[in-house]
Amino acid sequence: MPASSHINSTERCFKYVNSDEWVTSGKIGSREAVLVFRTNILNPKTRKLILEAAPQQSKTGADSPSAVSTPNETIHKTSSSPTVSKTQSNYTNQGKIFVAVEKTVANCKELVNHRNPIKKSLDAFSSSDASVSSDGDETIQYNETKSRKPHKSKNTSIIEIEVNLNKESGYESATTSQSNTEINTSEEDHEASSEEDNECGINMPAHQLKITYKFIQTETKLLRKIFNVHGLTEVQGDSNFNLLWTGVHMKLDTLRNLALYQRVNHFPRSYELTRKDRLYKNIERMQHLRGMKHFDIVPQSFILPLEIRDLIFAHNKHRGPWIVKPAASSRGRGIFIVNSPDQIPQDEQVLVSKYIVDPLCIDGHKCDLRVYVLVTSFDPLIIYLYEEGIVRLATVRYDRNADNLWNPCMHLCNYSINKYHSDYIRSSDAQDEDVGHKWTLSALLRHLKLQGCDTHLLMLNIEDLIIKAVLACAQTIISACRMFVPNVNNCFELYGFDILIDNTLKPWLLEVNLSPSMGVDSPLDTKVKACLVTDLLTCVGIPAFTPEMRTHYDGKSSRLRSSSCQRQVDTSESALRSTKSKKKPVIPLTQEEQRILRSARLQYTRRGGFVRIFPTDDTMQRYGNFLDPANGIPISTPNVQGQTFQTLVTQHNYNQMLHSNLFGSGQRSAKDDNSQENRIMQYERALETDSEIPFLKKQIVEKCEEEGRRLRKQMLKKITSGSTLTHFQARQTFSLYLESVLRRLTQDPKDSHEKIIIKFLTKYGGGVKPPVLFKNSQNISKARSAMVAKLLGDFLELYRRDTEAYIDSFDHFGMIPTNAYSLFLMHAQESDLEAVLTHHTNVTGIMPFLYNRCGLSVPATPPIPSGLHGFLRALPAMVTSYGMSREVSKYDGYIKNCDKNCENVQDISLRSRSTRDSK
Ligand code: ADP
Repeated sequence: MPASSHINSTERCFKYVNSDEWVTSGKIGSREAVLVFRTNILNPKTRKLILEAAPQQSKTGADSPSAVSTPNETIHKTSSSPTVSKTQSNYTNQGKIFVAVEKTVANCKELVNHRNPIKKSLDAFSSSDASVSSDGDETIQYNETKSRKPHKSKNTSIIEIEVNLNKESGYESATTSQSNTEINTSEEDHEASSEEDNECGINMPAHQLKITYKFIQTETKLLRKIFNVHGLTEVQGDSNFNLLWTGVHMKLDTLRNLALYQRVNHFPRSYELTRKDRLYKNIERMQHLRGMKHFDIVPQSFILPLEIRDLIFAHNKHRGPWIVKPAASSRGRGIFIVNSPDQIPQDEQVLVSKYIVDPLCIDGHKCDLRVYVLVTSFDPLIIYLYEEGIVRLATVRYDRNADNLWNPCMHLCNYSINKYHSDYIRSSDAQDEDVGHKWTLSALLRHLKLQGCDTHLLMLNIEDLIIKAVLACAQTIISACRMFVPNVNNCFELYGFDILIDNTLKPWLLEVNLSPSMGVDSPLDTKVKACLVTDLLTCVGIPAFTPEMRTHYDGKSSRLRSSSCQRQVDTSESALRSTKSKKKPVIPLTQEEQRILRSARLQYTRRGGFVRIFPTDDTMQRYGNFLDPANGIPISTPNVQGQTFQTLVTQHNYNQMLHSNLFGSGQRSAKDDNSQENRIMQYERALETDSEIPFLKKQIVEKCEEEGRRLRKQMLKKITSGSTLTHFQARQTFSLYLESVLRRLTQDPKDSHEKIIIKFLTKYGGGVKPPVLFKNSQNISKARSAMVAKLLGDFLELYRRDTEAYIDSFDHFGMIPTNAYSLFLMHAQESDLEAVLTHHTNVTGIMPFLYNRCGLSVPATPPIPSGLHGFLRALPAMVTSYGMSREVSKYDGYIKNCDKNCENVQDISLRSRSTRDSK
């Protein structure tokens, strides 16, 4: 079927929104057309306006901007001065749906003056938007649970209910699964369904085109919301998808079978970058190959136990301290700091790095950076750095005295650790970018600039560090792409780079995260991450295919695959060209090269807040040496320089081709647009959004104490008369119960309860190392409480994930009906949950919240003391020592490693080993 007929038939069905506004880089259904994502549609009020106003807009089609419009070229039509701020220059944020004209590329000198919040008083869109801000409270109350499309069983659905850990901020940092009963009144039902329709984006092009997405093991809340409002539909199981978003590495089979229109969020073998040990090895290899001075971007590191001798040698040369990290861990789990190598237990594989003792501090607090790096292709290499990042501050003031090395809330900047410290401050307004313990990158840069620091150099060094880290790992990833990825545009990847800046402003790469957290716990987080994701999706480009085109492209995909194979052997000409191309391309580009070039250009126009850092006009000059002169592949193995297998089978040089076509003579505008100066200015501007993004504000579950007590009586009665909790119900209850305990402990720490929790967790997880070595003095109790809460929080996360495996698909004989039980859970307080768990355990003599159906060594039910917290006191006795099924070693405690206590550490780890051995 000719493409035009698809276009016409498809366009006819867009009754409500102007598809030109939501599709770019080509007409809908055309080969290069992709969806546009924006944050303003996340605001329910703005969304309503968009949907209501859109038909009118469609009629006055003459006013519409062209389908291929450049984000950075758009300004408000009615604006009296042609200034562009980060907001307006950004697809994410602009209000161009209603008023937009095209303008030539903005003068970047103007950009820097427009970092202040934009007050849009000049157009209708803006004024309605302002009203959203003023009564934002109303909009934030809307019900997240109604909008989700859960996997529904007959009468049960899994929803997430936010748990209020910080009442003041109104934001969430923990969630729990809870079964949702259909308790809406008819009026509520009505509201829910209209909100749901709205949320599902049924009037959006993506919905009409039946564009689908699929999640695998990933944090979904923010992403699901963004996908749904843009009209994408979630699919599960083996269904075909347009976009696959996974939190884990891709299966090779899935990759091999990708069609041309499909997108996945990982490259094969990207663990070369994202596993701490692999990353350090790859960079170390580059240090040997290219010289230390070029790759001095990571702290000196050793993998133990293999390299213990090297570590001791290094320690004798330059004394510690050293920071010890489990090789494949994250979120500060299992990390501790030692003064000397003999304090490191030898029983597991860890990465030991030189501890940077002079970090950059803000107001006396150590900080580190999370920046977001998007790679859309490894060959040619295309890297973007998001203009905004997050700065994480430690809660306790930094003091380099060795006595404090044990204190994680002073030495580690992880939010997952510091959030439990009672002094941790969250900013409660998205505009507060330098308040509390989480700042934005741009706020940090402005702060440093005010202090006279050279932020220009700092950002150039950060760009350099990112490019070098990617170059060090690219070769393997490129080979894997050649083997497993059928089409050039199938994969993209967003990496979270963790960077520590020392007090000389030198950035050090700590690690690269495979799936940077999309969790949002504050308005600031929401703003940055929502903008990041929407910009990412627009930049990457989710093809706006019609269903009819899909089959057409399915066929094309395999043809493309075979032609790209042919391309690999038919190479001598382009090899010749690549060596000569430094001056100007002599031979016309092949079809594939034209496609790559066009795709890179279009992608660049859609980049929103992403700053392209490779290629730039000077990348060949700076990094050309690290690339194979013939095929442009980054070289990271000494013996195969110029002779890699890629050279033998592939003679194209896409990096060279792209560079000369984007930045060769006659390409000045692209050059200027992406100049160093412009890039740096972009990093320094504050990220602004046109609309407040109210979603993900905590849904405060209105619990009714009296109702809770009434329902609790009902449940106790049912249990007495023979009903039992299913595994799912028992686990839900236990998880909610522990959450209540966690909340209580963070607000009002209680020493004896913390000890119980530690005891329970130590026994529960075979590999758990207890954080037993806290001094017992008052001044450190806050840090200790934070650590206990962190352990419990980590446990709960795993526990909740496991609980999903127990979902009841229908009500069976003898169980408490799902609806009634869910209602109870909805209103239950800690004491209600405790009462039900205690009663159920006493009556049935089983503990389904801890043991699964086929548990082998279930201990006898211990006596549960009566009275408040009796269940908590009995908890450790419910667990057989080191006997639980799940490996929970990942939430190891923080071990204090100062000399005094080292013996104690070894003692404990030996004891735990011998207990295990004797089993
Ligand atoms: P994780 O993946 O578990 O978060 P990171 O490598 O990011 O581990 O380190 C966690 C925290 O430890 C960082 O936020 C940083 O503050 C601190 N840190 C890590 N490595 C070093 C180091 N070499 N020197 C100083 N601080 C470090």
